[in-house]
Amino acid sequence: MQVFFEKIREKLIFKIIPDKNDKDRNQKLGEHSQFMYRTLDGSEFPDVHPDRLALVALLNTLPFVSDSLNFGWPVSDRFKQATKIVSRIDFTFIDGKVEPIHRCDTGRHALSFSGGADSTAALAVMPHSSEPVFMLRSKRKSRTLYDSHAAHESCRQLSKLGFNINIIESDFEYLRDPIGFPTDLSVSTPAILIAESRGFESIAFGTILESAYGTSGEKFREYSNSSHYRLWNRMFESVGLGYSLPIAGVSEVGSSLICKIHPIGRFHQSCIRGKWEDPCNKCWKCFRKETLMAALTNTRLSPISVSMIKSSKEVKRRLIDDKPIKHEGVLAFSLNNIQGGGPVVDSLRNLVRAKEIDTDWMRHWYPKSLDLIDHDYRDFTISKLNELIGEMNMDQIDALESWENHNHEEREKRLDSFKSVLSLA
Ligand SMILES: [Zn+2]
Repeated sequence: MQVFFEKIREKLIFKIIPDKNDKDRNQKLGEHSQFMYRTLDGSEFPDVHPDRLALVALLNTLPFVSDSLNFGWPVSDRFKQATKIVSRIDFTFIDGKVEPIHRCDTGRHALSFSGGADSTAALAVMPHSSEPVFMLRSKRKSRTLYDSHAAHESCRQLSKLGFNINIIESDFEYLRDPIGFPTDLSVSTPAILIAESRGFESIAFGTILESAYGTSGEKFREYSNSSHYRLWNRMFESVGLGYSLPIAGVSEVGSSLICKIHPIGRFHQSCIRGKWEDPCNKCWKCFRKETLMAALTNTRLSPISVSMIKSSKEVKRRLIDDKPIKHEGVLAFSLNNIQGGGPVVDSLRNLVRAKEIDTDWMRHWYPKSLDLIDHDYRDFTISKLNELIGEMNMDQIDALESWENHNHEEREKRLDSFKSVLSLA
């Protein structure tokens, strides 16, 4: 694959030319051969260091590249060295001398911000001078469900509170077919691109414990030993940016608690289909949110949750086809902490082991995640986390670190029984 870029006034455009091997390797490579970034106020797109342009190109093309990626511009030796960590790909660059870019010393940090509960919780525990960077998804006819209204409103409310919100539009998700982010960190590419002009030292993500430490899936993993962390921490460092995960030690339960307690928490919305303060109440995000909020306010399960289980195709599919269910532990926490729902919900409680497993640790912060927080504001964030949700105790840390949830015969039996109760509902 070859990649080029050009800047035209308010736009920065990347063009890609896949070769035959790329298309053979990845059927998901769409018809689109370019992606762009655009400022919303029509101002000229700021200058970006060549190494950071290369990191952005890498974040959006890596899954589609078969064996070689050719950049149509020169980069520094430091960036070239860093790319060696991706051993399956041969990287080539145009010749030319480029000085590496070093981390600045402004005390200003960015957050890749989506408007959802997790990134709002991350913002709540970062210094007040931190700047959210929101990626506005370009509209196309092929995308009908996504609605940016709620996220826009969330940005507007935060800026009224004094936050400097940066919004950059991009269409990189159309590179994929079906539409989606090429890599989970692609969403931070607008922040990388404006980091130099805004003087950001680091970029933070609202990655939560379930994603970092694997507990949304089958087994706890030590995130800092993972290939994901080693790759991207190294690549961000090579372009003079810190890679920071302030709430990697906070579960989805904890991030919702933070949003519930902290004043900025009410300016978030998980659902990306409904309007502001009017979620669709049909999607998987709405289901999880509605159920978890009921558990955190100690009320009974709402009729909305029950009806989503019975009649939302999307919710049913996620409950039945995903083995285990994504974030199953959070669902176990929720269903253990609320009453009611009738036979269908009792059967779901049984499937997710709500009454059997220990999920109390999800309310607190996992202190071993401190190294994942940028050193410049680590102490600040730790004290915020302690103040808002407190640290896990030793027993809770044990319960987290021994997390396992495999799909075995017993689970299949429980699933069959859930399916049959659901079909009668
Ligand atoms: Zn929804």
